[in-house]
Amino acid sequence: MHQLTLAEIARGLADKKFSSEELTKVLLARIAQLDPQLNSFISLTEDLALTQAKAADARRANGESGPLLGAPIAHKDLFCTQGIRTSCGSKMLDNFKAPYDATVVAKLAAAGAVTLGKTNMDEFAMGSANESSYYGAVKNPWNLEHVPGGSSGGSAAAVAARLLPAATGTDTGGSIRQPAALTNLTGLKPTYGRVSRWGMIAYASSLDQGGPMARTAEDCAILLQGMAGFDPNDSTSIDEPVPDYSASLNGSLQGLRIGVPKEYFSAGLDPRIAELIHNSVKELEKLGAVIKEISLPNMQHAIPAYYVIAPAEASSNLSRFDGVRFGYRCEDPKNLEDLYKRSRGEGFGPEVQRRIMVGAYALSAGYYDAYYLKAQKIRRLIKNDFMAAFNEVDIILGPTTPNPAWKLGAKNSDPVAAYLEDVYTITANLAGLPGLSMPAGFVDGLPVGVQLLAPYFQEGRLLNVAHQYQLNTDWHTRTPTGF
Ligand code: GLN
Repeated sequence: MHQLTLAEIARGLADKKFSSEELTKVLLARIAQLDPQLNSFISLTEDLALTQAKAADARRANGESGPLLGAPIAHKDLFCTQGIRTSCGSKMLDNFKAPYDATVVAKLAAAGAVTLGKTNMDEFAMGSANESSYYGAVKNPWNLEHVPGGSSGGSAAAVAARLLPAATGTDTGGSIRQPAALTNLTGLKPTYGRVSRWGMIAYASSLDQGGPMARTAEDCAILLQGMAGFDPNDSTSIDEPVPDYSASLNGSLQGLRIGVPKEYFSAGLDPRIAELIHNSVKELEKLGAVIKEISLPNMQHAIPAYYVIAPAEASSNLSRFDGVRFGYRCEDPKNLEDLYKRSRGEGFGPEVQRRIMVGAYALSAGYYDAYYLKAQKIRRLIKNDFMAAFNEVDIILGPTTPNPAWKLGAKNSDPVAAYLEDVYTITANLAGLPGLSMPAGFVDGLPVGVQLLAPYFQEGRLLNVAHQYQLNTDWHTRTPTGF
């Protein structure tokens, strides 16, 4: 049963082959048995899951239907869940029980999804390896000595290991797409403003976006349908109608114009990944797509711009965790200053402290123009590059990451080495565009992802291309040994 996708679960529940309660019990037992190897969950919510599963079964018995009714999922531990620990992977929020549900959590619960637990993540979503979590590193089910990617590494490892069919993630600079690539999943970062950020603990508010992680594009369509939509509680939410994503899966790719940026294949990209990306291009050509070389000339400036803007916003967002208004409070403070300093010094881990310092520096008087303002100008140039490219093509295709999953600890002493892994993903966040990563093959037994980017609100186009690709390839169906 644990091999079933969301789409298959929906059919099985509708045909009364099994109940949501039965399925939930199977998956909870599987998590108890296998997760100790992976560390993909921070909290399990067995009681809530069984209550929700029984309620979903009762709703089905009453004639209700829907693809998420009774479907087991998990939430990255930065989506607020009422009465349940919402840690953001940090000691700072280790004992924080959210007083309300995030909009995404509430919407999925209303659609009948069953929450099995909260997944592990890099502290405050800062990282690309899931090693900065207060709750310990997550292991990649494809090779337990390797990282699963980050920051949504817990969601990725759990879904890849068939502990559950799908989970939510968030993507500020690649944290849905990169871990999806490194664990052989399909993951989608929607257009900025498509999915509500209300109740999603902020890292960098102008870049953060929640989205689905699953094994197939078909399942991402189902989960995104439950997450997307206008939310008056989020001032950056956009009031655009939500299309039927599942209905968009079956469009023909005949004549689809795919742009492949020449900058993507410069030094730094593992040549074995480059070859797999070329293979995926050939596959899409067979399906009728037309390939065109394009250029994104400002891409080389994306990492420095991102690593100024994201820390700048983080330094502001994280100022609320001071031991008074929010978060961990140190023992026996001598005075107010000591309370602030030690609460933040003890509550935040080293990567979070580094980014707060970088961000505060970039925003400080005298440096603002040189760093923050400059980075914002680069951000606009990157967006303009994309706008020009999308005048010529319908989709942009390339690698999701320059390398497959690295060994645990390999980049710990050099944060910049980890930052460089984000080179293909962060431009979509800087421009606010939707992006998807899907399985494209293996290197040394480790999964490789191909990334697709589309114009604003064209999530349906991304899902369409990925679904057609998955109907004609079987990379996404491969299961890690031992799971
Ligand atoms: N790896 C990037 C960072 O560390 C992206 C993280 C994210 O998308 N949350 O900032």
